[in-house]
Amino acid sequence: MYMSIEDIIYAVPHFSYSELLECINVLSRKKINIGSIGKSVLGKDIYILKIGKGPYKIHMNASMHANEWITTPIILQFISDLFNLPYYDELCSKISLDIVPMINPDGVDLVCNKIHSDIHEYSNLLFLNRYNRDFSDWKSNINGVDLNRNFPANFWRYKSTISYQNNTDFPSPKYYSGELPLSEPETKCLAKLCRYRNYDLVAALHTQGQVIYYTYNGNAPIKSVKIAKFLSKISGYELEEPEPDSSYAGFKDWFIQDFNKPGFTFELGKGENPLNYNEFTSLYKEAYPLLLNTLFSYEK
Ligand SMILES: [Zn+2]
Repeated sequence: MYMSIEDIIYAVPHFSYSELLECINVLSRKKINIGSIGKSVLGKDIYILKIGKGPYKIHMNASMHANEWITTPIILQFISDLFNLPYYDELCSKISLDIVPMINPDGVDLVCNKIHSDIHEYSNLLFLNRYNRDFSDWKSNINGVDLNRNFPANFWRYKSTISYQNNTDFPSPKYYSGELPLSEPETKCLAKLCRYRNYDLVAALHTQGQVIYYTYNGNAPIKSVKIAKFLSKISGYELEEPEPDSSYAGFKDWFIQDFNKPGFTFELGKGENPLNYNEFTSLYKEAYPLLLNTLFSYEK
């Protein structure tokens, strides 16, 4: 049995769903609420970890894109380190932090070679991947839907312009929006959670680019701009506004549109996806101040 999150992170050269379960097992010994917000296409529980009882509600999620699974151990290491903060109890009285550490568990397992030819979806996955058994470039869920293009925020516009122009309007390793907004069980349960909890701020962890996205359609709630500038200063990450026609159907797009509250995408690290897991330690060092100061946005 593993004793710490670090032991699990450094045990194997990948971080799949089974490593998440090991971490949850370790965290269950701490003061933390653990639950499930729903199930993935292949029936895996999508876990939520809850810390704090404060009035300011923050949501973070990771591994929406399968080949960005390094964001899951980043957020779990972060949780583990939170417990050691001298001001942990005080922080817990100010904020409620809900973390969904792996929103796309099937996709992550596919990238980590944990999905084998014995499941009936496999032949279709191979077909979608052009008969390449190396799935390291896969971003989508197991239905070939890019979850960060499946939210109802300019969804149809995305489908009729970018998808159509790039010839990606069919299930594929990346960029396919799905038939309908929130067509996937993973996005459905995440949207339901956000509506139910009515968060004050959400942040989605992705790789890579060392940038913070904070606008939707060229706009951002006033509070977002203030927080984004503060986070940029702390982390050294650039603030970036996507090209107006690429700010479509993403999780933070939908959150800003529907709630008019701060929604961020953090693009951690630099390089090519998937980032090298050997560089976890330096990536974590880079991400830590950004994540920690996001919690302190309640003061802004
Ligand atoms: Zn991503």
